[in-house]
Amino acid sequence: GRRQEAYRRNQDIGFDPKSLGAVLLSHAHIDHSGALPVLPGQGFSGKVYLTRASADLAGIMLEDSARVQEYDCRYVNKQERRRGKTCVQPIYDADDVRKIVKRFEGTRYGDQVKIAPRLTASFHDAGHILGSAAVRVKYTARGNTTTVLFSGDLGRSHMPILRDPEPPPACDVLILESTYGDRLHEQAGEEMKRKAQDLIEHARTHKSKLIVPAFAVGRTQELVMRIKELVGEGRVEPIPIYIDSPLAGKATEVFKRHPECYDEETMKTFSSGGDVFASRYIHFVSSPEESKRLNAMRGPCVIISSSGMCEGGRIIHHLKHAIQDEANVIVFVGFQAEHTLGRKLVEGWDVVPIFGIPTKRRAQIVKFNGLSAHADRNDLLAYVRAINPLPSKVFVVHGEEKQALSLGAAIQAEHPKIDVRVPHPASTHEL
Ligand SMILES: [Zn+2]
Repeated sequence: GRRQEAYRRNQDIGFDPKSLGAVLLSHAHIDHSGALPVLPGQGFSGKVYLTRASADLAGIMLEDSARVQEYDCRYVNKQERRRGKTCVQPIYDADDVRKIVKRFEGTRYGDQVKIAPRLTASFHDAGHILGSAAVRVKYTARGNTTTVLFSGDLGRSHMPILRDPEPPPACDVLILESTYGDRLHEQAGEEMKRKAQDLIEHARTHKSKLIVPAFAVGRTQELVMRIKELVGEGRVEPIPIYIDSPLAGKATEVFKRHPECYDEETMKTFSSGGDVFASRYIHFVSSPEESKRLNAMRGPCVIISSSGMCEGGRIIHHLKHAIQDEANVIVFVGFQAEHTLGRKLVEGWDVVPIFGIPTKRRAQIVKFNGLSAHADRNDLLAYVRAINPLPSKVFVVHGEEKQALSLGAAIQAEHPKIDVRVPHPASTHEL
């Protein structure tokens, strides 16, 4: 029932892909790119426009998504067959991914790209993940030009590696994300550095492990840079850091290939010939054998592994082996969705299911709150304010209802002349 419903919803993208001329992709995150491989099989024959870094990142992330689906389906089907039930299918496979990647048209930030007669688009750095962009579309008809800016996901200032979000270019209509439309972030400042410093000292004193579940793309590279910074400032003596995720290794290679996305500091290291993500104490783990060896190893060390919410992947093995030792610390650096193992650990459960087996937790839990890659409410309001002249219409999208409505109301209160709307999903609006 529920699984079939999810499958149907993922296959059905709500419109006819044959009628689609082109796709403009703001960034590679799977909640934005994940359905692309479904398109060619349903008759889409256009191109996908995106930045060059997004093209490389989306390629490896979609490949990984196909691999995970095939693996999960095989596992479920083995169990279902035993019960004589019908089989599930992946929504797409590696072949579908290859077909859509061939249609990628990587562009540079700021270039005007011709999408169709009278229609051009340009990509503007959104500072959210490598290659992320706000996309501006210009449409000219009968001498009139209408400009629409889609924010994509907006990032924050002062994030490691990435440049700050570019100020928004002028537009008539703004389509604005609202993920954190009703929330403010903690600042990622001195306090956070001290907390990280204490953790590394703790691991050294107790010869224990810091287990860090983290998304393989973006967050992992950010953590590496932040730890390198602590070492560089002489705040900590380095301890071995193991990045145990094949996808993280591949993503880091993509990061290295795209210095055009770097901020000034990262660019300095890059220009002086230094490997931005390497250091004698940083080890990328690729083979499963190497990964297993970490289980038996003693600390002190940091193990950064995925998935970020502990729903699968190698992190589960590391948790299984480390969770019963009270000297170890499980360090959360990102949002944990409801019903995930990560959420249970953050909520302080004493017994958690690991591979289906109730397991006593003795390791400590520490959470960092200041590491979001998303603009918060104040950043989003500042983004609207910075558009000169102000747009005549703003559509608030891509957030839970509460977040979107709250942000919409705040924009309306500040700018009574703007026509602010919070549209229902799949509704149609004339510009
Ligand atoms: Zn995103």
